[in-house]
Amino acid sequence: MPRPIQATIHTESLRRNLARMRQAAPDVKVWGVVKANAYGHGIERVWEGLRGADGFALLDLNEAERVRALGWRGPILLLEGVFEARDLELCSRLNLWHAVHCDEQIDMLAMHKTHQPHRVFLKMNSGMNRLGFAPQRFRAAWTRLDALPQVDEISLMTHFSDADGDRGIAHQVEVFEDITRDLPGERTLSNSAASLRFGTQAPVRADWIRPGIAVYGSAPDFPQHDIAHWGLEPTMTLATRIIAVQHLVPGDTVGYGSSFTADAPLRIGVIACGYADGYPRHCTTGTPVLVEGVRTRLIGRVSMDMVTVDLTPVPNAGFGSEVTLWGRASNGAVISVDEPAQAAGTVGYELMCALAQRVPVLVD
Ligand SMILES: *Cc1c(COP(=O)(O)O)cnc(C)c1O
Repeated sequence: MPRPIQATIHTESLRRNLARMRQAAPDVKVWGVVKANAYGHGIERVWEGLRGADGFALLDLNEAERVRALGWRGPILLLEGVFEARDLELCSRLNLWHAVHCDEQIDMLAMHKTHQPHRVFLKMNSGMNRLGFAPQRFRAAWTRLDALPQVDEISLMTHFSDADGDRGIAHQVEVFEDITRDLPGERTLSNSAASLRFGTQAPVRADWIRPGIAVYGSAPDFPQHDIAHWGLEPTMTLATRIIAVQHLVPGDTVGYGSSFTADAPLRIGVIACGYADGYPRHCTTGTPVLVEGVRTRLIGRVSMDMVTVDLTPVPNAGFGSEVTLWGRASNGAVISVDEPAQAAGTVGYELMCALAQRVPVLVD
């Protein structure tokens, strides 16, 4: 029998989360963001759940090839554009739309030989200071692109730095609007957080939204709001089983570094999941987990292949009992990936993307 750990991808939940994002920004087209191998889920594994999107946004040419191999003939957008000139050949061949965020990418396009002009998304740096043309240089870039025979339609995009936080998006929306007001072309501004929080507000609505994390069932602004608040469902479950039980007496310690000491008799379960499976070592005593769908806590340090859990709230649990690290338990109980992520001082994105290669993945 293989080690009992397993991840499950929930097709229906992907479908419902996508529908939820459509509802957040009515009458707007939706890019299914499938970069980073669909946030660790696997592009091929989310395909059935997300094929209802209007297009797919990603970074790697290799991922674009995989989406085309699945039979998708609709829009694919390279969110960072091309990295070198010959990437444009693949864009021509696979009909990929690509972001243009710097002069070097315009230079490459100007040299590119193609029969079919490309659809491009000109990106403005409206304050994030990662990719994009500064506002005062944006129109010059647009004019340069517009003059190229290699370019077909020019769409406009920007990305928010604080859509999930107190600062919000108004300052960036204002900059973007100010510069692009009289330019033609489709627009895309919002990620998950901006779509959920501001999706129905006029200037943000645009033509396309680009939700990633919400589609994968994690709340972009956790802990301020959780997935239940936003009407989202987990799309990835990481589950395992108890492989041993220990009975502690007061003074007994648990695991490496003896970081936990029992102050009363305590039954604990040893589970087949460790940091080599992608469960963060930064999760310490108290991190929530489900045993047989009942909420309890982690105890002691996460080691490479194992960690222990408190069995006090589940006296009937024992060898072979189901343990859910994140996602949905067999009894329907839910523990969002946001909870262990917060305990580890990080975000749900990182945990899902870091699911280890050795964990078998099932699609349901
Ligand atoms: C990753 C990414 C998104 C999706 O962001 P989420 O926070 O996961 O919704 C949108 N736009 C760009 C440019 C991205 O890189």
